[in-house]
This record gives sequence, C-alpha cells and structure tokens, in this order.
Amino acid sequence: MARLYVVVPCYNEEEVLRETASRLAAKLRELAEAGRIAANSRALFVNDGSKDRTWEIIAELHQEHPELFSGLKLSRNRGHQNALLAGLMEAAKHADVIVSMDADLQDDINAMDRMLEAYEAGAEVVYGVRSARKTDTAFKRVTAEGFYHFMQLMGVDIVYNHADYRLLSRRAAEALGQFSEVNLFLRGIVPLVGFQSAQVPYERGERFAGESKYPLKKMIAFAMDGITSFSVKPIRMILMLGAVVFCVSVIMLLYFLVRKLAGHTVDGWTSLACSIWALGGIQLLSLGVIGEYIGKIYNETKRRPRYIVAEVLDAPEATA
Ligand code: UDP
Ligand code: MG
Repeated sequence: MARLYVVVPCYNEEEVLRETASRLAAKLRELAEAGRIAANSRALFVNDGSKDRTWEIIAELHQEHPELFSGLKLSRNRGHQNALLAGLMEAAKHADVIVSMDADLQDDINAMDRMLEAYEAGAEVVYGVRSARKTDTAFKRVTAEGFYHFMQLMGVDIVYNHADYRLLSRRAAEALGQFSEVNLFLRGIVPLVGFQSAQVPYERGERFAGESKYPLKKMIAFAMDGITSFSVKPIRMILMLGAVVFCVSVIMLLYFLVRKLAGHTVDGWTSLACSIWALGGIQLLSLGVIGEYIGKIYNETKRRPRYIVAEVLDAPEATA
C-alpha cells in the first residue's frame, strides 16, 4: 500500500499549526483505516525560519506523536517555494506518494481523497484547482486571478487557479529534484516534469487563523519571478517592437524625402528626423537580438534536465 507524506511549509503559523496537525492526523487515520494508504503515513512540517513558536510546536507534535508528525527546520526564511521543495525532497526519500498543502487550512483537506483516487487511477501529478474563492476578499481574488491571466499572457504555462496543493508520486518528486534552478517557481516547473496528470477541483476556504504571509508585494515579486524564469516573451516583445519601429522608420524616411523634395521643410529637419527614427528602430531591434542571446544564456545556466524517462522496455539479458 502506498505510504503517504503530507508536506506542509510553515512560516509564523503558531496560531493554526495545532489545529492543522489534528485535522491532518484525523485524515491520515481515516485514510489508513479505509485501506487507502499505508499505516506508517505521516505529515512533515517544514519550518521556514519562523520568528514565532512554530518550530517549538512542531517539535512538541513530533514528541507527542513521533509516528505521525515529522519536522524539518530550515536555517532561515527562504520563502514558501524553497521550503516546499525542501519538504518534497525529504519526503521523496521515504514516501511513495506526497501531497503538499498550506498550513492555514485554506485548502480543503478532504480533496485529498479524490487526489488519491486519481493517483490510484494512474496519475502521478494531481493538481488541486480552486473552483471558488467565495471567502477571499475581493482584492485578493482580483489580484490572484489577474496573476494567472497575466502569467498566461506572458507565455508561462501554468494550471489556472492551481496553487501548491498537489499530489506527486515519488517518481515525479524525484524528477522535480533534477531541476536545479535557484529561482524556484514550482507552479511552472511541475508541468514541465510531465507524466500522467489529473485535476481535482476544491473550494478554497478561509484562513483558519493568522494573516496571509503573501502580501501584494510578495505576490508581485512571485509573478515577476515566474515570468522571468519561464518565458522569453518579454524579450520577444522588445524584438517585435524593434522590428515594427524599424519598418515604420523606412516608411517615414520616404515621407521625409518627399517633403524635402517638395520643398516643405526647414533646413536640417530631414536629416534630423531620419536619424531619430532609423536609429531608434535599430536600437530597439538590436536590444531585442541581444535579449534573445541573454535569454538563451539564462536558460542554459538553469541546467534543467533535458528529458525525464518514464519507462524503459528492454529484454532482461540486455540489462545484465
Ligand atoms: N510560507 C512559507 N514561507 C514564507 C511565506 C509563506 O513557508 O516565507 C507558507 C505559509 O506558512 C503557508 C503557505 O506558505 O503555509 C502559504 O502562505 P499563505 O497562506 O500566507 O498565502 P496565501 O494563502 O494568503 O496566498
Ligand atoms: Mg493561505
């Protein structure tokens, strides 16, 4: 039977942690009793350099129920994505299947049942997708949904309204570990991993307690990171703009010459206007070309795996 690890990144979550732990414990027991997961399944809390009592609570939980709760402490705050990756990599050492979720109970714990169903049906990556955001404030809803639209517009392939509530098979988590980039944007990387995937809709609830650890400022930084890590579209836009301006400048040159020949101009205007247009166009075009090369260099430095093998069919003697 599959051994499940639930990975929960925590940053200053002392207000919710105990409640999250007890609900997770109940869920794990229920799933184990129903024979859906192995009895030694557990929850792994990752403390992302919290400034409050989060780590103390994790340590207490582990002491009270070592068979249910594990903890991982990062040396300092490294951000949600890095904390999550740390948890996933630790869990992949022991688990067959991993579910990641936030500490604040906004993600419906019961969606895990359906995620496991999809896993049993063969999916190795199951995305939890928010079907409604009734309880989010209008501001959060508009900015968050704008985020997904903007990302798509900028050419980043992400699953709409999917945050980091997802199930990964061990194999998928290990494959994720092969992506060695430092600017981590898991929502963009997971689709690159491949394997069979599925989506499970769920309703996003209210934060159980405490405040969001993702204020607008962090969200904008997050979006910028996502775009610049996954898309060269902004560079392409500069290139396109350069090409357009350059074409227009050729037309303008003709216009300037006609004006000049018709004698409608002041001395020096033609040459001045020509140089402004032509040079501007050439500059934008060159910037775009340079950008294309920088984009290539950037992609190379990420040293992403070029492929991930899903299966090998081979005769036994050939591997001996
Ligand atoms: N989190 C983290 N490190 C950070 C910020 C957030 O590990 O620097 C965790 C946080 O504890 C929570 C999850 O990331 O479990 C999502 O944060 P939050 O719920 O505040 O974001 P929101 O749901 O408001 O977008
Ligand atoms: Mg939240």
